[in-house]
Formats: sequence, structure tokens, C-alpha cells
Amino acid sequence: MESSLSSDHRILLVEDSETQALRLEFLFAEQGWQTERASTAEEAVDKLERIVPDLIILDHYLPGLKGVELCKLIRRNANGWNPSILMFTAEDASAVQSESLESGADDYLSKSADDSILLLRVRTLLRKSENNRRTAGKGNTGFRQARLLAVDDSPSYLQYLVHELSSDGHTVEAANNGPDALEKITLRGYDCVLLDIVMPGMDGIEVCQTISQMGANLPRHPLVLMLTAHENPSEMARGLESGADDFVGKSSDVTVVKSRVRALLRRKLFQDALKDKEIEILRVQAAREAAELKADLVGQITEKNRDLEETNRRLKETQMHLVHTANMASLGQLVAGIAHEINNPISFIDNNCYLITEKLEALAEGCDAFLSPAHKKLIQSGRERLSEARMGLERVKELIGKLRTFSRLDEGEFKKINVHESIDSVLLLLQHRNRRITVDKQFTSDPMLNCAPGQLNQVLMNILANAMDAIGDQPGKITICTSVQEGWYCIAVRDSGAGVPVAIRPRLFQPFFTTKPVGSGTGLGLAISHSIIRAHRGQIDVLSPDGGGAEFRIRIPLNLSQEMVHAIYPN
Ligand code: ADP
Repeated sequence: MESSLSSDHRILLVEDSETQALRLEFLFAEQGWQTERASTAEEAVDKLERIVPDLIILDHYLPGLKGVELCKLIRRNANGWNPSILMFTAEDASAVQSESLESGADDYLSKSADDSILLLRVRTLLRKSENNRRTAGKGNTGFRQARLLAVDDSPSYLQYLVHELSSDGHTVEAANNGPDALEKITLRGYDCVLLDIVMPGMDGIEVCQTISQMGANLPRHPLVLMLTAHENPSEMARGLESGADDFVGKSSDVTVVKSRVRALLRRKLFQDALKDKEIEILRVQAAREAAELKADLVGQITEKNRDLEETNRRLKETQMHLVHTANMASLGQLVAGIAHEINNPISFIDNNCYLITEKLEALAEGCDAFLSPAHKKLIQSGRERLSEARMGLERVKELIGKLRTFSRLDEGEFKKINVHESIDSVLLLLQHRNRRITVDKQFTSDPMLNCAPGQLNQVLMNILANAMDAIGDQPGKITICTSVQEGWYCIAVRDSGAGVPVAIRPRLFQPFFTTKPVGSGTGLGLAISHSIIRAHRGQIDVLSPDGGGAEFRIRIPLNLSQEMVHAIYPN
């Protein structure tokens, strides 16, 4: 591969460090490559107007115009020629590397890289450059040809000027009066206009002033070189005031005119590059301001979102409150109503049973002498049946008592209650769901607890109903333990159901979270329970017991007073 690379290559090395430049020059000379050196961007441009190197090596940190800016300038102005450019960087920072590539460099290399790596990169780029040259063909030289307009009312001088400047590699057009020149300038872009100061009609000063005024509206803003027949100071001052960039006497040698034009064009290149730099700075500034504005807006939106979230949370709580109140009220009223309706007939049945028993006893006593043994047996059997009926009635009364306990659901009142009775009353209401569930009550605590009874019943109801739902239609077991531990009244409900998957545990107490089918679950039971226990300054947790299933543990502080219980729902 190496043998296919011709050795007569020319490298332009733009490097401000003399030692570094000498070292590389020597290294390249060993390969048979010729090195042209420039220590600043200006010098490099000057060289590029005369030579067409196969490779340009640019130091990233040049004094004045930096390596990346020079790279952009070369890329923009290279005339049908695509030079290979290698950026030489002092550091390996990725920002510098990407900046180098974005500016148009083909490659970058750290100055600390080994010589063998440097030569490898240079060789690759030289080969690329050879290929480029082959495809681009001949006749492509250095920088883009500059476009010039020569304006003079003397046809012979105009012709001479056009000829001389064209021989310098520029594209030159001509105009022999002011209006014609302005028309051309507005329609086509020129890099430089050579303007005779004295012309009939519209003179050079007026043309120059118009160019300055039109400024940004022109396709390309040209530099103006004023040509004067007489080099007197007052005429020069007039010309410069009108906006001309330089002056040259017509009587001077044409080489002076040509070198002034070259100098002006070089200046223009640098002006454009600096303008780009300014634009880049403005762009970065604008981007930073936009980012700040965006951050500000995002902040405002986040603030608004937070407000919305808060409103949403309150809405959910209010909704929960409404559902809770409605549930409590209707269930409590229903149970209380039924208990009341049953209680009245039961009372008079019980009363009558008692009276009938008394009357039968009186009858047996008074008629003892007249009754046959068979009749006496009949009366005794009646008394026994009545006694059994009264025992049944006792059980119904007990049931009504439990229903009444439960019907305290809507009682907001705070008082000392028998928790064990509350648990029994809830179980009574739920037992019809699945009679194959064994309930194991391990009540080791004192049954009495200060709380809002209706609300505690609601919690017990939710947790026990969930335990039964978790067991489903199968036989199963629910263990209910009460205990007192370190100032807490603890109630634990363990079931033999499927348990709570770890994944849903964090969402369990969120309102409206349910895994039950539509219509059977509201997702409010645990959320409401959580609020009630929180209002009692207690805690409710879910655990996974060793034997499987789920365990819900409630802890309420002992000796709770009404003042300590805060409102469950904020306003
Ligand atoms: P709902 O019962 O209406 O779904 P809850 O807030 O009472 O609402 O319960 C929320 C969810 O918590 C239930 O859908 C269920 O997935 C889960 N859960 C509650 N208790 C148990 C339990 N004992 N075993 C398994 N999962 C349970």
C-alpha cells in the first residue's frame, strides 16, 4: 500500500511553535515530503494564494485566528479543491475533537501521539488527497477566485485593468459609469470594486456612499478600492469618508494596484471569518438564553403540575370521603333498621313466652290433683319447649346486640369500646360469604380501647372482607390476634389466601387501586382504612407470613384521647 503513494507531496504546516514545526519538517523530509511553514493563520492564507498543498496540518491553538476558524475559512474559500486537513490538538478532550471535525477537518491527532501514528494518519490523508486531485482534474488552484468589478470612464484604462487583474487569477467584470456599476453590484456579488473617483455624472464618491448605505441588502458586501488620478490628501479624505477601504493612485505601477487588491481580499477573508466567529458567539449566547428561558418555563410548568397534583389529591380524598360517608351511612342505617325491626317482635315473643311459662306452672300447680299422669306429662313437655324457645330467643337477642354494635358505624363519637365485640359483630355480618372458613380468634389483649368505634369497625370490616375475598370459595382459615405491645393496641388479621404480590404492595393503600374485577372492587377499602388509622395516630402494614397468605397489622396507641385524633379528611 505504502509504495503506491508518490513522494513529491507538499504539506502546509501551520504551527506557531518553532521547535514543533522543525521536528515535523524533519520527520516529513525523511519521507521525501516537502513542508511549507506558516506560524499564523494570516501567513497560511498568504501561502494558500500561491501554493496548493496536498495536506494542511493546523495547530488547534494558533495565535489570532484559531485553527478551527482557519479550517472553516479554507473549506469555504477553497476553489474546486478539497484539501485534506489534519487538526493537531494539545489535548484529547472530546469537545476539542468534535469541534475540529465540525469545522471541516478530516482528522485530528493529539500532539502527544507517537510519530508512527502521525505518519500513518498523514499518509492516509495524502492518499485521499491524491484521489481527490485525480477526480477533480487539473486547473483547480488554491482559493476560490475572487470576483472583481473595475469601474472607470476611460475605456483604455478599464481594459488594461481588467486584463492585469484577470492575469492574477481573479474573475473581473467592467463598468464604465456609476449607475451601470451600481446595477451590477445590486444584481451580482463582488468581493472587491475598483472605483475611479472622478467620473462624469455619478462619481466614485457617490457610488461608494450608495454601496455603504445598501450594506446588508447587497448579495455580497464588496470592499472598495478607490482609484485616483491625483493623490492629494483632501481627495483621499473624501474617499475614505464615503466608505472606501483603500486608495491607490492610477499613476502607480499596476503591480501596486494588484498587491493592494490581494491585501484587501485577504482582509475580507479574515473579516468574514471573524464575522462567523461573532455569529457563533451570538448563536451560543442565544442558545444559552433559550435554555435558561426553557428551564424557567419548565420550572413554571412543574410548579403548575404540582398544584394540579395537589388539587387532584384533594379531589381523590374528597371523593373517598364521600364514598366512605355514603357507605357508612347506608350500611349503618340498614343494620340499625333491621335490628330495630327484629328487636320489637322478639321482645314481645320473649315476654309472652315468659308469661305462658308462668301460666303453665300455675295451671300445673292448681290442677295437680285432677290431672292424669298423661296430662301432667303434656304440660311438662310444653314447659320444656317454651324453655328451648326462650334459649333460641336469647341467641337472636345476642345477634341483635352485635348488629347494634356494628350499626355504630356512623357514630363519629369517640369512646372506650370492646374491640373483641366489634370483631365479632363484623364476623357475624360477613360469615355468610363462605361458611367453610375457620376463624381462629387469639384474643390476648384487654378488649377495651379508646377510639372512634364506627371508624374502627369500618377498618375491621374492610380487612376481614378482603381476607375472605382472598380465600374465595375454598375452605380456608382466618386468624385474628389482638395484643398489647409497648404502648400499642395491635390487631393482626392473617388469611390463607394467595397473598399480596410484592409488585403491587407499594400501591395497595392508594385510592382506587384494585385487582378485583370491575363491579366487585372499588379500590377504596384499604385507602379508607389507612386514613382512619392515620387519624388515630396509628399504623397499618401488610406482611407476608411464612405459611403464605397475607397479614394486615393495625397498631393504635393505647390511652388515645379525643384531642389526639385528628380529622380524617382535610377540608
Ligand atoms: P378492593 O377490595 O375494592 O379491591 P381494597 O383497597 O380493599 O379495594 O384492596 C385493594 C387491593 O389490595 C385488592 O384489590 C387486592 O388486590 C389487595 N388485597 C387487599 N387485601 C388482600 C388480601 N388479604 N390478600 C391479597 N390481596 C389483598
